[in-house]
Amino acid sequence: MSQPLILDGKALAKIIEDSLRPRVETYKRKNGGRVPVLAAILVGGDPASATYVKMKGNACSRIGMDSRKINLPETATTAELLAEIDRCNEDPLVHGILLQHPVPRQIDERAAFDAIAPEKDVDGVTCLGFGRMAMGEPAYGSATPAGIMKIIEHYEIPVEGRRAVVVGRSPILGKPLALMLLNRNATVTICHSRTQNLADVVRQADIVVGAVGRPKFIQGGWIRPGAVVIDAGYHPGGVGDIDLEAAVQRCSAYTPVPGGVGPMTIAMLLSQTMDAAEKRFAR
Ligand code: NAP
Repeated sequence: MSQPLILDGKALAKIIEDSLRPRVETYKRKNGGRVPVLAAILVGGDPASATYVKMKGNACSRIGMDSRKINLPETATTAELLAEIDRCNEDPLVHGILLQHPVPRQIDERAAFDAIAPEKDVDGVTCLGFGRMAMGEPAYGSATPAGIMKIIEHYEIPVEGRRAVVVGRSPILGKPLALMLLNRNATVTICHSRTQNLADVVRQADIVVGAVGRPKFIQGGWIRPGAVVIDAGYHPGGVGDIDLEAAVQRCSAYTPVPGGVGPMTIAMLLSQTMDAAEKRFAR
């Protein structure tokens, strides 16, 4: 088989960032020097979460947007977090709100996500946004699955009528991605920890998505020859949820780890914050 196509999320993310820079400039010119603002709320001191928030702030700076970092202590209550989200909802200078997942255990994360105003839900985490997206209504998609769909679109991967198998059903990744693929007329199967004969299900797939959170969990031998392989996982040592070394021997296209899905998550967050700012301005 010929070499598989590399679905280069890093390069695509750069194209998206480059396209956002002039939009920020135009926005700034029309708004008396003000730029779009993303409020990033971090609860507690988890180092990985702190790094993600920092990376998102850096990405905002790269394209000329502002980010406002809001740090709540590890001991913060749901009420305190809700009050903070409310302040951001009410603040006309904030266009997008990101609540970094996961939050400490004492906090009702679902209540916190759902407190984000729909027009500022640029990370696509509210139930309302999810429902609208599922119904094909305008909504900001959950950032990682939206990034995966952007990769699929950019590389013109055929989706309609294809069998897509999504391994993982988390609210921020597997579940919304499955619905996005369904909305593009794929025949979608969602797998999870109770799925039986997972290998056989994956073998049916024209498009396989690994969103499991376990390093190299999906074996190369499960991949149908010619399938498109999307690996959303990221683990220490730079491996994903799919055994890519083995999968590349069989697939027709794949997202590398790193440099595939990861950079697209941030690009979508920026892009949706830009959209939110422009929509506010248009009102
Ligand atoms: P998660 O919330 O832990 O969900 C994992 C999913 O995998 C669950 O639905 C779980 O099923 C399923 N699963 C677990 N063990 C399984 C098994 N043995 N067989 C089949 N399914 C199994 O994880 P997540 O937040 O969706 O993240 C998934 C991966 O994506 C992680 O590697 C994470 O690092 C990565 N990720 C990357 C980005 C990015 O920006 N690139 C963003 C988010 C996540 P149940 O529902 O039955 O428990």
